[in-house]
Amino acid sequence: MSTVTSLLSKILTDTKVCDMHGEFEATGVPVGEKTRWSPCPDCEAERIERSRERRHRKLIDHGGQVRLERAMEQAAIPKRYRTRTLDTYNAQTSGQKRALSSAKRFADSFEDALDTGANLIMTGRPGTGKTHLAIGIAHQAMREGYTAMFMTTMNAIRVVRETYRNGEKTERKAIQQLAEPDLLILDEVGVQMGTDSERKILFEIINARYENMRPMILISNLDVEGVRSFLGERATDRLREGGGRAIIFDWDSHRGGEF
Ligand SMILES: [Zn+2]
Repeated sequence: MSTVTSLLSKILTDTKVCDMHGEFEATGVPVGEKTRWSPCPDCEAERIERSRERRHRKLIDHGGQVRLERAMEQAAIPKRYRTRTLDTYNAQTSGQKRALSSAKRFADSFEDALDTGANLIMTGRPGTGKTHLAIGIAHQAMREGYTAMFMTTMNAIRVVRETYRNGEKTERKAIQQLAEPDLLILDEVGVQMGTDSERKILFEIINARYENMRPMILISNLDVEGVRSFLGERATDRLREGGGRAIIFDWDSHRGGEF
């Protein structure tokens, strides 16, 4: 825990000046010897707007279905899940109906989520349909021209860790790649060992997406408290910042809400 704590306590803030937009409050994260500062929020918003326009043009150019197929391959969505849309989720109980409507709300307001960086945590026992709904959200987002990526948390950690020996630059690149898609779904949060190094990598991924204001969906068999203590307080704060919500797949108590 000490590595994580010392890393986290070193987060800095400073007033920076953008040539275009003037002064802004930047947050800095130490990366090795240097500090990586968050970009001007106005420049960032313009950049996001430009790439959104580009994507929408691309979607129109290539035609829906073919592009969706390609998008799904790029999103690394396992074949088994490719037909799992929000429409094919069979909601019987009131708990399932609530989960579905929360997922729909998130998908319908995905454009807003990209402005605020809102996140979603899905918790509950295996086989309750968490992955189905998460992928259903990705489906809808991709149909609207956004990019998505699906992976297990262990894989995400491995992707970053494998770059370690190649130095800091490639490590940052790996984290940046995970921060790039409009939506990142991390499955199986909490089945890892929970070592300091795993936590540190997870925090860096979450923080990079936070800085880019890119939403995430975290799926876990732990309960919300378990996820929170697994990730650590600061990572949870980052997730919560944009107005994060939790969907709890617990059909006995039908609970849900803020996390
Ligand atoms: Zn600017």
